[in-house]
Amino acid sequence: MNKSDVLIIGAGAAGLMAANLLVKAGKKVTVLEARDRCGGRIHTLHNELFFKNVELGAEFIHGDLPVTLGLLNEAGIAYYPADAEMWQYKNGAFVTERRFIEEWGLLMEKLDEVEHDISIEEFLDKEFPEDKYNDLKNSVRRFVSGYDTADPEKASTFALRNEWQGEDGDAQYRVKGGYGVMIKYLEDKITGSGNEIYLNSIVKEIKWLPGRVDVVTLDGSVYESSQIIIALPLGILKAGDIEKASISFNPPLAEQNKAIADMGFGSIIKVLLEFEEAFWMDAKTETLAGKSLGNMGFLLSDENMPTWWTQVPQHSAILTGWLGGLPAYKKKDATEQEILNESLQSLSNIFKRDIEELKGKLRAFYIANWTVDPFTLGSYAYDTVAVSQLRSLLNTPVSDTVFFAGEYLYEGAAMGTVEAALWSGEDAAKKILDKSA
Ligand SMILES: Cc1cc2nc3c(=O)[nH]c(=O)nc-3n(C[C@H](O)[C@H](O)[C@H](O)COP(=O)(O)OP(=O)(O)OC[C@H]3O[C@@H](n4cnc5c(N)ncnc54)[C@H](O)[C@@H]3O)c2cc1C
Repeated sequence: MNKSDVLIIGAGAAGLMAANLLVKAGKKVTVLEARDRCGGRIHTLHNELFFKNVELGAEFIHGDLPVTLGLLNEAGIAYYPADAEMWQYKNGAFVTERRFIEEWGLLMEKLDEVEHDISIEEFLDKEFPEDKYNDLKNSVRRFVSGYDTADPEKASTFALRNEWQGEDGDAQYRVKGGYGVMIKYLEDKITGSGNEIYLNSIVKEIKWLPGRVDVVTLDGSVYESSQIIIALPLGILKAGDIEKASISFNPPLAEQNKAIADMGFGSIIKVLLEFEEAFWMDAKTETLAGKSLGNMGFLLSDENMPTWWTQVPQHSAILTGWLGGLPAYKKKDATEQEILNESLQSLSNIFKRDIEELKGKLRAFYIANWTVDPFTLGSYAYDTVAVSQLRSLLNTPVSDTVFFAGEYLYEGAAMGTVEAALWSGEDAAKKILDKSA
């Protein structure tokens, strides 16, 4: 039987970060990963004919985030600014925007006055009841749904205020070669020091007693350790028995399960389209928009696939489509062809191109429907009202034996990010090391 000091379930950013720190401190670690690759919601396409170094999952570093940038610097991995123009297509016209939320100053003023946490939908109804604020309200709902992939009826106003006030100016970066390079660095550190990462290992049962853990995978293999870090997505922890990757604890962790059930986990569909040429940069589009879209980064619209972005500052013929929150959840069972058609129809409506012309120019596509991905079952976490007690419960080790880690356990403004996952992995490892010091 495989025996280690610490078992880590899940080789995403959180699990690998925890493993790396433990290995550095001399612990014997075993990582069990369900997929045939590491990285989880980080998935850079490296070896394909199309979409070279393009991301199916996490793509941006949303600000000067200390843990992410610290790790990249330690690894000697370069990153570069991803600044680009932001555009909106609204009422049939292309307009440049600095912010995607209307009347930002007024919104911040009202948010500052909130004393008790309520859902963002309740906040909007209470503070902006008149019709004249419809644009403001719709832009907030669209942002909460699109960026945070959250349900506005459940999302915490305090958490969104914290996120928006913590916004780090316009700083935004991409990792050179993609986030996958960072994952490879962590992977090599772990395996290079004689520790194992077992791929294709779907954990199903965790039997534990103080100081002793036995983990059983779908194929019946058993792994033993003294401590365990559960670095799984919230979607998997919430999942019922019928899901392929759901896990059970023996004895059950009733309080923790309840907390997990009450936390918010969103939905996302990310679409990659590679065309023969960047038609959004041609003369026809320039005439339509009244200005060149050559430096366009983001483009927001009211179409069924509402958000689009380019690879600017790198120029390529790739467009990324993004549908988040409840609208993505409602389409979770749509076929790839349906999602592709809807994406092309949205572009056809925005750029006034015949859909057949767009189909003819399309060289390759990828549809990443993370909500039905069996090892994620959603996008990333968002804070529901009064979530902080739930998080602190899950951040408390169970009998110094069972530890949780993952982006959903992060305390800070960069929620739902790679930073959140790395921070949480580091935090779980430090808790183990502090006790054993
Ligand atoms: C489409 C998309 C775009 C995103 N864009 C950004 C972005 O631009 N910037 C940013 O900072 N963040 C972004 N994020 C969020 C970011 O990707 C995540 O917050 C982060 O990668 C989560 O890391 P994690 O380790 O917590 O979870 P994961 O990466 O999900 O890792 C969990 C691991 O557990 C494995 N697993 C699941 N079930 C089992 C099982 N039963 N047994 C064993 N292993 C199992 C999974 O396969 C996975 O590898 C994005 C996420 C998505 C989905």
